[in-house]
Amino acid sequence: MKVAFLGLGHMGLPMARNLAGSGHEVVGFDVFPAAVDAAREAGLIVGDSGTDAATAADVVITMFQTGTQVLEAYRGSGGAQGLLDVAASGALFIDCSTIAVDEARAAHALAEAAGHRSLDAPVSGGVVGAENATLAFMVGGTDDDFDAARPLLEAMGRRVVHCGGAGLGQAAKVCNNMILAVSQIAVAEAFVLGERLGLSHQALFDVASNASGQCWALTTNCPVPGPVPTSPANRDYRPGFAGALMNKDLGLAEQAIQLTGVDARMGMLAREIYAHYADGPGAGQDFSGIINSIREFSD
Ligand code: NAD
Repeated sequence: MKVAFLGLGHMGLPMARNLAGSGHEVVGFDVFPAAVDAAREAGLIVGDSGTDAATAADVVITMFQTGTQVLEAYRGSGGAQGLLDVAASGALFIDCSTIAVDEARAAHALAEAAGHRSLDAPVSGGVVGAENATLAFMVGGTDDDFDAARPLLEAMGRRVVHCGGAGLGQAAKVCNNMILAVSQIAVAEAFVLGERLGLSHQALFDVASNASGQCWALTTNCPVPGPVPTSPANRDYRPGFAGALMNKDLGLAEQAIQLTGVDARMGMLAREIYAHYADGPGAGQDFSGIINSIREFSD
């Protein structure tokens, strides 16, 4: 079985390497020449182009930045052939990029119209998860296609969850990250309020982490240094999960909120707050550094 792996960036290269390391025949490609060089140095077989890598492939995995890149690569642009034109007939397309739900559904429709099968399979776990093959995959597509993909995804990750039909992997990702954004802001606001009231960070942590305020944003990603020594706050907010990526994911949440007409005021406010954060140095800092904006904007 030939697997084409396209998009060998921060996430894609370690994922492709783990897949090849687990005994699969993997041919990679990236449009960015330095990424191709890094892949070769890492021992990956690389093609001359995306369509070269995907020619006669049984499985085509993509790990790009945006939905537009995915749809263009599937279709081909400027009259050139796309990935759908060259893969083996009935190939399984797995898109692991984080993209909008409606873009993921468009990608499924294109694959199906070309006689292929497809899954949306975004990930969480970051670069560390990609390197250690401990990613979590959230998958949308049919049962049969999910079963076919499972061994490949398990070579790159630790948890693989079938969320439902086309686009529902992306839906799970966007909903989860909206919870995360809102809860990280709430935790940060509580610490700043506690500071103003004379409450120590440790006392607030000891209470909230054992009470109903308990959540990942507090107990793993604690936005103040001290209570959780491994949280980014202890290393000057080095990510972690960068503000730019949270801002991107909240942009996708906003699209989904507008598409569905949900009254998600907290999600939309989180979107606004992180858009502002990511407009400055927050782009490159962990998203828990939002606590510094809260301090800055408090009287
Ligand atoms: P990245 O920019 O490092 O890598 C994307 C790569 O895709 C780039 O090297 C780019 O040149 C390549 N590319 C774009 N179009 C291409 C095409 N047509 N053919 C071949 N290569 C092409 O991005 P990343 O950090 O690896 O993230 C990839 C995706 O994973 C994004 O959607 C991101 O939101 C998501 N994600 C990232 C993280 C993270 O921590 N970095 C965590 C979870 C999810």
